[in-house]
Amino acid sequence: MRALSASDLLRAWDLGLTQRPIERALTLLATTRPETPLDDLARLSIGQRDAGLLSLREQNFGPQLVCLANCTSCGERLELSFTVADLRVAPDVAAPTELSVTVDDYEVEFRLPDSLALLAVADSRNVIAARALLLERCLKRVRKGDEPWAAGELPRSVLDAVVERMAQADPQADVQLALSCPLCGHEWQTAFDIVSFVWTEINGWAYRTLHDVHTLAAAYGWSEGEILGLSASRRQAYLEMIQR
Ligand SMILES: [Zn+2]
Repeated sequence: MRALSASDLLRAWDLGLTQRPIERALTLLATTRPETPLDDLARLSIGQRDAGLLSLREQNFGPQLVCLANCTSCGERLELSFTVADLRVAPDVAAPTELSVTVDDYEVEFRLPDSLALLAVADSRNVIAARALLLERCLKRVRKGDEPWAAGELPRSVLDAVVERMAQADPQADVQLALSCPLCGHEWQTAFDIVSFVWTEINGWAYRTLHDVHTLAAAYGWSEGEILGLSASRRQAYLEMIQR
């Protein structure tokens, strides 16, 4: 994956501004893979999607990440520094499309959640209902003994086994950071939201870039396209000349 041009990244940001996070992730991925149909990107497992977003982050903003968190025990503000490699939990290989578990007499065949499945439940206000609906959408064949069985009638233990198998098959979909507080020694885990992290960075970058365009356009009379066509280092050099 190559670094995107400033124009391409700004176009993705522009589109993503009015989108929901699941759609934003697809917009960003589509910008890095213009040759892949959007429908195919939407059918990637969430782990594959997130691996693609990590590559986008690394190619465009480098491998080092910094974010802030508050200690869940004493409230101390922590600055966390890590690398994209720390967040990669699995090689970027195709996740299995057919999965199954057998618990007692129940046999369930299912697939991993993808962006289409997440979008289908995105408007649900009830988290528990949305999870159940998402799970149901991913089930392909449910049997008890030799008989077909209703997905909604599966016992908790079977559903737990399905969720566990999904997590094993697509570990990149749920990245957990192990944190410890230097002040009070408290240790805890927290989920790292790749989509939100990458979007927040791109949003900040877009506003800084547009501000630079504004400054250069006002000083030199160049168009937005001309300014974005300059490399980042040349833009920076001109900005420094204006400020002298
Ligand atoms: Zn603490």
